[in-house]
Amino acid sequence: MNREGADQPDSLQCPDCNLRLVLPSDPGHGAWRCPRCDCQLSGAWRLKPDSLLALSLASAFLWVPALTLPLLRLENLGLDNDASLVDCILALMVGVYLPAGLLLLLTLLVMPLINLVAVSRLLWAVQRRQSVASRWWMRLYRYSREWAMSDIFLLGILIAMTKLGDMATVSPGAGIVCLGLAVLMRLIVETLAQPDQLQRMLDAQVSEARHAN
Ligand SMILES: [Zn+2]
Repeated sequence: MNREGADQPDSLQCPDCNLRLVLPSDPGHGAWRCPRCDCQLSGAWRLKPDSLLALSLASAFLWVPALTLPLLRLENLGLDNDASLVDCILALMVGVYLPAGLLLLLTLLVMPLINLVAVSRLLWAVQRRQSVASRWWMRLYRYSREWAMSDIFLLGILIAMTKLGDMATVSPGAGIVCLGLAVLMRLIVETLAQPDQLQRMLDAQVSEARHAN
């Protein structure tokens, strides 16, 4: 990505259509969008690295029980069964369902974890005023935002729970509570930590450090 705008702190280039824009002097409230392609350039709120870092770490910790504890328990005619998220993925990894299993592994496990690690690394760099190989981390963060789909999986489980309710007794497990909380926190972090806003903070730090030397 061409980012010559990094050296001019009062202007930036739209990452989608490359339009050169002057930064608003008073950011005010509300999201700031590119006038040409409507790409969101800043979040609707001021970015607070400390609280977002805490949220993303809490979300990362919740991922462990969300993956390993049973999501829901099914009881029907004296038979009962439960499965965790890891069990679901492993069950799909055999036979004709292998592609679906791999997709589930990518969108539910790999990408959300990469997303959390990348956003935590970037927020840590902003909070500690460190310089970081931000291009690489930022690219990871952007890609993983597109591919992390744990929220859609959660929605699917909730729909399945209501549908299966007619045939069997379905009770939610501890895993689904942890997954719900982890997804909610990840969505808050993702909404508030817009990549371009983070990039501008990192660029500003770099130019500040350059001026100080
Ligand atoms: Zn644009």
